[in-house]
Amino acid sequence: MTLEQRLGAVEGRISSMLQSLGRARDEVTLVVVTKNHPVDLAIELYGLGVRDFGENRDQEAQPKAHDFAQLVEGSSATWHFVGQLQSNKAKSVASYAGVVHSVDRESLLIALEKATVERTKPLDVFLQVNLTSDPGRGGVNPAELEPFAERVAGASGLNLLGIMAVAALDEPLEREFEKIAKLSQKLISVAPQAKFISAGMSQDFETALAYGATHLRIGTAITGKRNY
Ligand SMILES: *Cc1c(COP(=O)(O)O)cnc(C)c1O
Repeated sequence: MTLEQRLGAVEGRISSMLQSLGRARDEVTLVVVTKNHPVDLAIELYGLGVRDFGENRDQEAQPKAHDFAQLVEGSSATWHFVGQLQSNKAKSVASYAGVVHSVDRESLLIALEKATVERTKPLDVFLQVNLTSDPGRGGVNPAELEPFAERVAGASGLNLLGIMAVAALDEPLEREFEKIAKLSQKLISVAPQAKFISAGMSQDFETALAYGATHLRIGTAITGKRNY
């Protein structure tokens, strides 16, 4: 299959799932994760109508976003940072990303607040929760969601969009996405505007949609295997 065919196939699955749920296509943002692929692939996707691109490492994303802006005149692309983010990379990420999906701790929050001083527009962010007991996976412990959400919602230069999580593939999917939906409700009770849900990847995006996902982060199902 070509890139165009794989994108079309995923778009088709998103549309039919949304139709069966009675949800509109424009409620959902498809972020195509281009990590470990060259800028040419992002440019080809842009030609096919993709406007939202996901990356998970600043070392790779920064030059890619830069080259992309040079090569695509008047680009209206938005770069989404979806991976664990070190505080010392916050300034770089805030220089090209429109959305950071992985805000999960106070030190990063402070670094991002500082980094956004030079931006003209606020930085959209998701608060990431960790559904596992492994702190190395990134994300705030669900038990600490509310106090941290108050902090993020009140942070200067940041606009809290909602919740982000990665479903564990060794757990029953429905239960994982049910947890995310519940945590989203909890977040909304603290920050009423933060109603978006970043969840759903190549292996699980249809289930994610059934549980209210609004931002899908899909890589391999569209881009093919990554070159490491
Ligand atoms: C790589 C990545 C994705 C995309 O994963 P696929 O399985 O290739 O769709 C989504 N979210 C995050 C945080 C990622 O790092």
